[in-house]
Amino acid sequence: MTDCLFCKMVKGEIKPDVVYEDEQLLAFRDLNPQAPVHILLIPKRHISTLNDLSESDDALLGSMLRVAAQLAASEGIAEDGYRTLLNCNAHGGQTVFHIHLHLLGGRAMNWPPG
Ligand code: AMP
Ligand code: ZN
Repeated sequence: MTDCLFCKMVKGEIKPDVVYEDEQLLAFRDLNPQAPVHILLIPKRHISTLNDLSESDDALLGSMLRVAAQLAASEGIAEDGYRTLLNCNAHGGQTVFHIHLHLLGGRAMNWPPG
């Protein structure tokens, strides 16, 4: 996906503020943070939306959640709590079409979300 913003980050063409990287995943700080801690965790492989997952991605999504919890701990927000979310398509508010797990914390989150 040559014109995908997050693929460009994986390829190093755009350099985000990276907080975690492994073979499969990249995590970086959101450019427009909605909370004191706002990290995006992405698979390095391009997957457009949650609708495009297959069974073979189950382990990948599991490790995204596990790493998110690990990052929450290293950011010091694990005990107070935090929110993880994946937006899908227009009604979900998705604006970048390469799946990304939002990790938000450092303040109390509202429920229901807007
Ligand atoms: P979503 O609306 O769920 O698709 O989330 C996309 C997120 O990507 C938003 O929170 C944006 O602030 C964030 N974002 C867009 N461009 C960049 C960028 N260059 N670096 C970091 N985060 C970005
Ligand atoms: Zn992509």
